[in-house]
Amino acid sequence: MRCSVTRRDLLAAFLGAPAALAGCSARLPEQLFDGEVVGASDGLGHRLRDGFRPTPPERRWQRVGVVIVGGGVAGLAAAWRFLRAGFDDFVILELEATPGGTSRYGTSGVVPYPWGAHYIPAPMAENQLLVTLLDEMGVLEGRNAEGRPVVAEQFLCRDPQERVFYRGRWYEGLYLHAGESAEDQAQYKAFHREIDRWVAWRDAKGRRAFAIPTMLGSDDAEVTALDKTTMADWLDGHGFTSPRLRWLVSYACRDDYGTPLEETSAWAGLFYFASRVRKPGAEPQPLVTWPEGNGRLVRHLYEKAKAKVRLGTAAADVIPTQRQGKPGVDVIAVEGGESAALGLHAERVIFAAPHFLTRYLLRPYQDEPPHHVAQFEYGAWLVANLFLKDRPGSRGFSLAWDNVIYDSPSLGYVVATHQRGLDRGPTIFTYYHPLCEYPPREARRMLLGQTWNESADVVLTDLRRAHPDIDGLVERLDVMRWGHAMVRPRPGFIWGGARAAAVQPYRNVHFAHSDLSGIALFEEAFAHGVRAAEEVLVARS
Ligand SMILES: Cc1cc2nc3c(=O)[nH]c(=O)nc-3n(C[C@H](O)[C@H](O)[C@H](O)COP(=O)(O)OP(=O)(O)OC[C@H]3O[C@@H](n4cnc5c(N)ncnc54)[C@H](O)[C@@H]3O)c2cc1C
Repeated sequence: MRCSVTRRDLLAAFLGAPAALAGCSARLPEQLFDGEVVGASDGLGHRLRDGFRPTPPERRWQRVGVVIVGGGVAGLAAAWRFLRAGFDDFVILELEATPGGTSRYGTSGVVPYPWGAHYIPAPMAENQLLVTLLDEMGVLEGRNAEGRPVVAEQFLCRDPQERVFYRGRWYEGLYLHAGESAEDQAQYKAFHREIDRWVAWRDAKGRRAFAIPTMLGSDDAEVTALDKTTMADWLDGHGFTSPRLRWLVSYACRDDYGTPLEETSAWAGLFYFASRVRKPGAEPQPLVTWPEGNGRLVRHLYEKAKAKVRLGTAAADVIPTQRQGKPGVDVIAVEGGESAALGLHAERVIFAAPHFLTRYLLRPYQDEPPHHVAQFEYGAWLVANLFLKDRPGSRGFSLAWDNVIYDSPSLGYVVATHQRGLDRGPTIFTYYHPLCEYPPREARRMLLGQTWNESADVVLTDLRRAHPDIDGLVERLDVMRWGHAMVRPRPGFIWGGARAAAVQPYRNVHFAHSDLSGIALFEEAFAHGVRAAEEVLVARS
């Protein structure tokens, strides 16, 4: 089959030129199986950006104590905190037909599977919020002799956890030990000594340099200074030139933040490694996961708040008001596919949608957005779920939970059946591709302009390098296009003042979203949701 220039360009843009050339001899996937683009919704968002402002009729106005805008983890966490405090005069508005935002999950396969977030590290004792949640879910089986939470075995990621595909075969783990030189080994050890230095570090108040959630960590100048430089410069400055070490650190930044080394704050790069280690020399905290990834945490939070959640209902206008001397907030929402406008007179709002949306949704920000709003930048990610009738062949180390291709700009795939111990037969691979090699706007344009067929082509061309037999095993391939997947922790953003300004309430509007931490993690979304709920509870008391 002759390969069109357009197709080669597309594959080269997403996978690099060598993969594009190799991939161009294969058949297009559309002839083999079904699938669709399942989201995320961007139509209404773009209409709101372009000035769509509905007006509800008088009879469509209601009163409620608090409106939570956004039913992702942060919004659901705020609801969780309210319900624990016995407060239930609130409603959650969620744009999508399913809750969970970037931690949502699907259920149409042999096991449930993630559409975004897929794990958390086991919490340290200091993260009391997460410990409380996991206790409530029955994920913890108690405390050890030192009082540290113990995660029940079935929720710890099973072995083998990770493997990497390099030059025609798979190797165990993420760091490529095979073929490393004495210099590689020395640098790998030196890097971990440097991480241990940060693990041991405490400020004058006894706080860790890097803690989860970040609000428990230090704001000492020695730590925040790291935010002024890139992770690439930090590695250069410490003489870390080993290609495989740099690959590992680059993988970490792409995986957790969707940013390349050259655009990741060194603070964020070091956070990834140091925040997960309890004390110098200890192993990183083990990973906690489920077939549907963090969708299991969403499912639990949603079950608690379900009666309060209006799915398929988007906030379109958030208007701080003053009535009879009392401050409040009017929220205009659209539901039922934009056909019906709804008005809510609320005392307070928790804005748990991404912060960049404040400039379209929060009335006073629409004309004059504060300086900090434009500082929030988001990367675009392509995620695909491949429903396979059987496992593809592998040369070398066997299928693991997380499977990464060394030479690919993608992150490879996680296996949804792994945690259930289903090691044969049908399975689901969740494939992740952070488009971090392009400026965010360009990446979004590329992603949202792609057809299902083109996305499927990119995914399969990438995976064929490690699994030449994969096409014959795919029964279905669905695609999620996350235009604003996660906030980008570029240098200067985390400690440059924008986050600190954004977290302050504006009149009776409180803010809660993981982006207020500068890094997109479950723990950050959860902590901000709870913090915002507590601000509201204090203000109402
Ligand atoms: C591909 C991917 C992989 C990830 N992997 C991990 C991982 O393994 N571990 C981890 O900890 N984190 C991971 N994350 C980060 C994840 O984003 C966070 O863990 C967390 O889910 C963020 O929650 P949030 O509530 O802050 O934001 P969001 O998930 O962005 O939720 C915001 C919600 O607001 C809704 N909304 C937007 N506009 C409106 C409106 N106008 N009206 C009403 N609702 C609106 C959205 O639909 C959404 O549901 C991943 C993210 C992505 C994209």
